[in-house]
Amino acid sequence: MTRREVILLFWDCPYCGHKHIPGPTRRCPACFWWRDRTVNFYEAPDSVVLSPAEVARYAGPDWICKACGAANPETGAPRESLVCGNCHKRQIDIDGGRTPLETLPTGVAVEHQPSRWEVCSPRRYTGRAAPPMSGGIVREIGSDPQRSILAMVYALATVGLLGLGIVGLNTLGHLVSRPRPVNALVLRRHWRVEVPIEERRPVAEGNWTLPEGAYNVRTEQRQKSTRKIQIGTERRTVQVPYEEQVGTRTECTTVSRGDGTGERVCSEEPIYETRYRTETEEVPIYREEPVYATWYSYTIDRWQPLRTAVVEGTENMPRRADTVELATHPYPQRKLSPKEICFLDVYAQNRRQTWRIVCEQYDWVVSEKQQMFLKRPGAKEVTLLRSQ
Ligand SMILES: [Zn+2]
Ligand SMILES: [Zn+2]
Repeated sequence: MTRREVILLFWDCPYCGHKHIPGPTRRCPACFWWRDRTVNFYEAPDSVVLSPAEVARYAGPDWICKACGAANPETGAPRESLVCGNCHKRQIDIDGGRTPLETLPTGVAVEHQPSRWEVCSPRRYTGRAAPPMSGGIVREIGSDPQRSILAMVYALATVGLLGLGIVGLNTLGHLVSRPRPVNALVLRRHWRVEVPIEERRPVAEGNWTLPEGAYNVRTEQRQKSTRKIQIGTERRTVQVPYEEQVGTRTECTTVSRGDGTGERVCSEEPIYETRYRTETEEVPIYREEPVYATWYSYTIDRWQPLRTAVVEGTENMPRRADTVELATHPYPQRKLSPKEICFLDVYAQNRRQTWRIVCEQYDWVVSEKQQMFLKRPGAKEVTLLRSQ
């Protein structure tokens, strides 16, 4: 449901500041300034609705004088007979005055000023107020320039020292952890092969299913889970929300007609509120019930870790674990894949040390000879530098 009506607008004189001049009035009553395209029409509480007879007096938006820019009322008179009320110039030009003149804009939404008294609201003056801060700070520094410069030098020096400290620590950390070349006399090479051994022995286990190869099986009923069982219903009251229209709100927009009047379109928008009504509903009641299943306890033969056999050797002895013997009693045994670890006894950095090296590189190292290695300080692992 919409309502359309033509209403009276107002304007403020931008020249002398006179407020609340009725829209169709073309001259400021205080300074006689003739309004032009810069004028802003607005709606106010006393924007009366015009009667059809009053509306009929307006033939269209004001035309703009080609000479001085003043807005003149549209009367429907032909172009060649128009004379500006402000500068008294005729509106004829080269084309003989057949093209229409420019007019005040129409269809532009106008502001709605709530009341006459708020025309001078403080909001309009905030723009002119001087910014409260920044001036004070500038003055403070200006009042004692020497002290502030001294403070700045001090601050810069502190930051610089701190920075140097951090950079220094960083480089130091980097130098400590980076591998460095170390010259070493290799005294002896030796290795170790570790072979994990497992045996297949009986193990007691339990499960919901029986695996293949299980023996000495015993069964029992055990609770495996629970399930919900409905044992009845219950009546319960609940609050059910619903929307109810409690009234309407009028929403209006006004656009300028370019002649000091405006067209206001209002529509009624319903207002809803959430209400509650009480309803009863049937709610199921549940009981938790245990669910039983068969649990198997059994014995089964499984490979279990038994021990680690160690074979050691020196120099170029083949790193093999063939000598590791497996027993068959009381249970069968098996070997898992062996792990080789290689060592170098060296004289380096003025002392005897034992290093670890990848076994592939071990074969390239020659005993009783000086060689170069890469070594991280504090670490036991080295790599061979094969550049010599
Ligand atoms: Zn004025
Ligand atoms: Zn004029």
